[in-house]
Amino acid sequence: MLGRRLFRASSLRPILAPAQNAAVVRRASLAIVNGMIWGSQQRATALAVVGERIAAIGTDNDVRSLVDGATRIVNSRGGTIVPAFNDSHIHFLMGSRSLDELDLSGAETVAEIERRIAEHAARRPRGWLIGRGWPYAAFPGGMPTLDILDRLVPDRPAYLESFDTHTAWVNTSALTASRVETGTQPGILKEGAMDDFERHLPKRTRDEDLDAIRAGMRLAASKGIASIQEASRGFDQVPLYATLHERGELTLRVRLAFDMGPGHPMDAWSRRLELYSEAARPPSDNWISTGIVKAFADGVVESKTASMIEPYAGMAAADAGALGAPLWERGELAEAIRIAGNQGWQVEVHAIGDRAIRDALDGFAASEPGRRPRIEHIEAPAESDIARFARLGVIASMQPQHAEPTRNLLEVWVPNLGHERAARGFPWASILKSGGRLAFGTDWPVVPLDPLASLYVAVNRQTFSGQPPGGWLPHQRLSLEHAVAAWTSGAAYAEHRELQKGALKIGMLADIAVLDRDLLRTPASEIASIKVEATAVGGRLVYES
Ligand SMILES: [Zn+2]
Repeated sequence: MLGRRLFRASSLRPILAPAQNAAVVRRASLAIVNGMIWGSQQRATALAVVGERIAAIGTDNDVRSLVDGATRIVNSRGGTIVPAFNDSHIHFLMGSRSLDELDLSGAETVAEIERRIAEHAARRPRGWLIGRGWPYAAFPGGMPTLDILDRLVPDRPAYLESFDTHTAWVNTSALTASRVETGTQPGILKEGAMDDFERHLPKRTRDEDLDAIRAGMRLAASKGIASIQEASRGFDQVPLYATLHERGELTLRVRLAFDMGPGHPMDAWSRRLELYSEAARPPSDNWISTGIVKAFADGVVESKTASMIEPYAGMAAADAGALGAPLWERGELAEAIRIAGNQGWQVEVHAIGDRAIRDALDGFAASEPGRRPRIEHIEAPAESDIARFARLGVIASMQPQHAEPTRNLLEVWVPNLGHERAARGFPWASILKSGGRLAFGTDWPVVPLDPLASLYVAVNRQTFSGQPPGGWLPHQRLSLEHAVAAWTSGAAYAEHRELQKGALKIGMLADIAVLDRDLLRTPASEIASIKVEATAVGGRLVYES
């Protein structure tokens, strides 16, 4: 339901709420002034918040009449006031845990990776050495080797995930400790092998996880993020967030996706869904929600596990693994989607290769429409499948930072697909143009938790140093307005919450970010350097620079 209306947005004249008496009209608990309200046709400069919702939008003068001594006032100093960001696809617990682990992200050479490992090993001389973020392109042949890690960490187990979380690089000590053997590429664990290995990793305590999430929430608040949509293993996380909620510590709205995996009889899947419904009942407010299941249809292009219609470049159809590694039997995914839909669940499917994307679309086409199905990533769809997103009402959940034309993209991703298929890479503008809906996110910790970096890549399709000139596949560049919409209203739509959040309107939740400059006048090349000045979630200020 919408909250109290104090202003009619069209006229910007204050109107009193239908209250029994004047004393009932409450004063603003928070006022954000001297800025530009994003999406306002009337050039509004300020808004006022009563409780957890937006109560007024207007000029500074309009809003000041609602302010008293107890009102928190944020001066935007001419910056842009936007709906807070909503990260549609994130691995927040994993990212939060990684904040105190070895960070290899952004390291482009073997030498740099070795330097960071050695430094971290010296700083933390005991126990497992755990880290993440290495790019495939840093290594000759696109994969690291056992030898390097054994040399750097000879005396204790080491476990290092690739930036995309789909491959693990381990040393001999870790293999001995777990009694796991690797195959043709010693020290490399892909996909399922990596999942099997994970149970040998040291377990985190509940208190450690709560602390990690607290640190993650502080980071998110500093980036203007008020909502996240956790993309995997959400079932186990409900108690963690419920605990933080009970203690009044949540500064982030969370939607948790539960896992949907292949290889089970369909009646077992149906029972699993019933268990999900019973066991995971989050509080019925706007802080924690569930109601969605997530499947992986394939892996990633970099390790040639994305599921493709035609063989990977340089391979023949008869070669083992030439078409990647689809994770479901033909027809099985569609059946699991149909059952989940019938039991009232929204479904999201990780699909990167054109075959996987088509399988997911086919699955959604064969199920009950109207539950806002989503496909995650959509890196290399077939041309003929682009328009199906709009036709089937499938939300395209994409993460622009994955298309940053780094060495990883240009030297591993593109050559693995070959130039013709690579030319269909990350087609967010084509999907939008054909009438499809976009929801953006980061996929943190795969890429940095940084919505403005994401907006920069969505708009420029360049690295942060402006390469290549004009952008990679520049016809897929988005306008800033569309990119911001995908990060706010589009993301809210993707979780059935567009009436509550994702826009600055009277009655909506006061989830707001203040940016340090006028977004519409910022040159596209400078978007990534925009800073968040303040973040409010539910009317509560959770970050100020
Ligand atoms: Zn992901």
